[in-house]
Amino acid sequence: MRRKLVVANRKMHGSIAENAHFITGLLAGTADAGDADYAVCLPHPYHFQAQTLLSDSPIGWGGQTMSRYAYGAHTGSVSASMLLELGCQYVIIGHSERRKAGYESDAASGERFQAATEAGLIPIFCMGETLEEFESGMTVDVIIRQLNAVLKQVGVHGLAKGIIAYEPIWAIGTGKAATPEHAQCILSFLRGHVELLNEEVADKIRILYGGSVNAKNAKQLFSMPDIDGGLVGGASLNTDEFIEICRIANSLSCSTISVEQI
Ligand code: PEP
Repeated sequence: MRRKLVVANRKMHGSIAENAHFITGLLAGTADAGDADYAVCLPHPYHFQAQTLLSDSPIGWGGQTMSRYAYGAHTGSVSASMLLELGCQYVIIGHSERRKAGYESDAASGERFQAATEAGLIPIFCMGETLEEFESGMTVDVIIRQLNAVLKQVGVHGLAKGIIAYEPIWAIGTGKAATPEHAQCILSFLRGHVELLNEEVADKIRILYGGSVNAKNAKQLFSMPDIDGGLVGGASLNTDEFIEICRIANSLSCSTISVEQI
């Protein structure tokens, strides 16, 4: 059975004091919740804090993006080796806020994914459609195009070194999460697409849902058979709520709830 994973995407929020409060709270709040995995993605200047506070814990940490280049004249960019030096295990790739700002194309996301896995980081590859695309029935076309850009770059065995996150753009930061049924339908479709290439990879790869996950909807979402946890933005800014989401994932990691029971 795949372990649930809950990742905090803290975006451009926090300060040294706030991060310390968040991380120490999370450590205490998940100390007896070892059946799921947790990670925090802080802005780059704060990875040192995660390294100091989380090194002896099971909680991982990671970047919110990285360069596809190893080094060089790329002002403002951060390389995989720099993230690794600060102990990062994960890196978010292809987040819609970066795609929208023009920093990440499909092809560049594929290259970033490759650079991350070759360096030893675990990419959390984000994909998802806009509201307009959703309403015009384009969801599957968009996510398959985005996923295929990574598959083209690294193949199915390369994909297996990362994590997929389906994050419909219309659900991010809007308070309107996808219904568990919609999220399950899309994640199961994604897993099916991977299965066509390799059954073992499809069975093992973790696929997260992201978009307005909170303490109220996490149980229903994470109970779905193909949803292996969540990428959590806004709700990770409230330490108690984020801990609650982690504890829900923990309680479901060892349960056998079926869709009919939800
Ligand atoms: C995100 O941006 O990755 C995200 C999931 O945000 P939110 O939880 O705020 O919708």
